[in-house]
Amino acid sequence: MMTNSFEKIDILSLSYNELEKEIIEIGEPKFRAKQIYGWIMKGAWGKEMKNLPTSLIEKLDNHFIFTLPTVEKRLVSKIDGTKKYLFKLYDGELIESVFMKYEHGNTLCISSQVGCRMGCKFCASTLLGRTRDLLPSEMLGQIISAQKDTGERISNVVMMGIGEPLDNYDNTIKFLKLVSADEGLNIGLRHISVSTCGLVDKIDALSNEGLPITLSISLHAYDNDVRSEIMPVNKKYSIEELLTACQRYFEKTSRRISFEYTLIAGKNDTEQGAVALASIIKKYIKSPCHVNLIPLNEVKETRLSTSKNVAGFKNKLISLGINATVRRRLGSDINASCGQLRKGAKEENK
Ligand code: SAH
Repeated sequence: MMTNSFEKIDILSLSYNELEKEIIEIGEPKFRAKQIYGWIMKGAWGKEMKNLPTSLIEKLDNHFIFTLPTVEKRLVSKIDGTKKYLFKLYDGELIESVFMKYEHGNTLCISSQVGCRMGCKFCASTLLGRTRDLLPSEMLGQIISAQKDTGERISNVVMMGIGEPLDNYDNTIKFLKLVSADEGLNIGLRHISVSTCGLVDKIDALSNEGLPITLSISLHAYDNDVRSEIMPVNKKYSIEELLTACQRYFEKTSRRISFEYTLIAGKNDTEQGAVALASIIKKYIKSPCHVNLIPLNEVKETRLSTSKNVAGFKNKLISLGINATVRRRLGSDINASCGQLRKGAKEENK
């Protein structure tokens, strides 16, 4: 059973088959599992499960815990309708999710941990360290809560919120299986991106799971000096080791790799930098790939600033045969990049 500190079973972390087993074990007929699973996927619990007898609702309450993140704060962009959520978890911890509308469907950016211990210098999520991992139920719950709140279906998920998903490996894998299951939210794995700062051992493990997600690698530098300075994980796994693992991942899964590259003024944004980036990618990656350029979202504590050379950097990469696009900034009026809202809320409560 999933590890957690509850005395009761965390129902939203169960697959449909696991729930069915539990329901039979507490002496209820199998068809109840179907009804209950339908309700919890909509975020309903207790009396909200309208076709269940009160006695059963009580029994469920004694046996299970239902941990849906609740909306603590909601910021809505006036520009593009992006909604940023600060969610409160069962123990009062706070995380963030961002709901974005794209032509290809509604996308939710979800968190995988409360805080982060990776220490990237430009990132707000890691400033206070990591408090704990999220349960599979809490990753799934962000989607269920956002669908409940917006009344809209979410068809795409990106694991680019607070936390390093591969540092919470088992729960992330369980979540990916739950979210894509037919009986559940049924969001196709091809519509899910997992973003990592580059934990090579976990990238290898992931390549063996048979999950056709899109892997996004936060690269952000073309040499080890700069990468180690801005991303401490690079001291453990160098760029060369990381890119070699990406190539292995492609060979195993046939899934195209996506690189994220945040442009930071004076650190990684010169045209010579673009040449060096193209050259190192070509050296190690023998498969189709894509570079997603992200203008740095300035975080006051980091004292790093956005590059003015975004277009120049992109054009240089393209001229060298590297497929590159600049990420559209959604919700720029609501500070939509993750980590800042949680940190602000924690400071207000001090
Ligand atoms: N831990 C994972 C996923 C969370 S971060 C990872 O490292 O990939 C999601 C993406 O946002 C990463 O590419 C991350 O490097 C980037 N990011 C973090 N802070 C940022 C900022 N201030 N401006 C722009 N991108 C940022």
